[in-house]
Amino acid sequence: MRAVLLGPPGAGKGTQAARLAERFEVPAISTGDIFRANVGQGTELGLKAKEYMDAGLLVPDSVTNAMVRDRLKQDDVGGGFLLDGYPRTVDQAGELDAMLAEMKLSLDVVLEITADADEVTKRLLNRAELEGRADDTEPVIRQRLEVYAESTAPLTSFYRDRGILAQVDGIGEIDEVTSRLVEAVNSRSS
Ligand code: ADP
Repeated sequence: MRAVLLGPPGAGKGTQAARLAERFEVPAISTGDIFRANVGQGTELGLKAKEYMDAGLLVPDSVTNAMVRDRLKQDDVGGGFLLDGYPRTVDQAGELDAMLAEMKLSLDVVLEITADADEVTKRLLNRAELEGRADDTEPVIRQRLEVYAESTAPLTSFYRDRGILAQVDGIGEIDEVTSRLVEAVNSRSS
């Protein structure tokens, strides 16, 4: 399976990505997690990304695309992958196509987890209390949702036009949402 997981911040991409990765035996590749790990380790990449992340803005495409390109060259992606948080702009989607084309590969499915702004804001504020992520404060959450609406939401029609989009309702129990996603993957590959 070569798949992309789309959805607004707080839709549950990270949680569901881990479950789908296990189920379909592919690595989950989260650009947000890679950036956070680099920030934590104080690498050059982390230093470049931190100010954007803390402000709720996208890290520049040049930085993000290069990082994903490197990651997709690693051995564990031979049997497929699940990208979480990438692409996030139409330009990144074009870049991903180019990377895959070089590898003579293409995407099988784009899974979009849907959830309205009120629900995701509530979840993110709750997560702020539990995990204390630097970008889970109210003004930064609002900014991330704006960036999503403006830059990432257009990917829905981009992938729908390609015929590989599957939308899944992200409201409900975690297990229930996982079942919907698994179902969406299976109904495409059968
Ligand atoms: P969320 O989806 O909850 O906003 P992520 O962990 O996916 O959280 O991303 C956190 C931050 O990392 C983003 O706000 C952004 O600054 C940066 N980031 C992650 N993925 C990308 C990407 N594909 N392009 C640019 N920036 C990204």
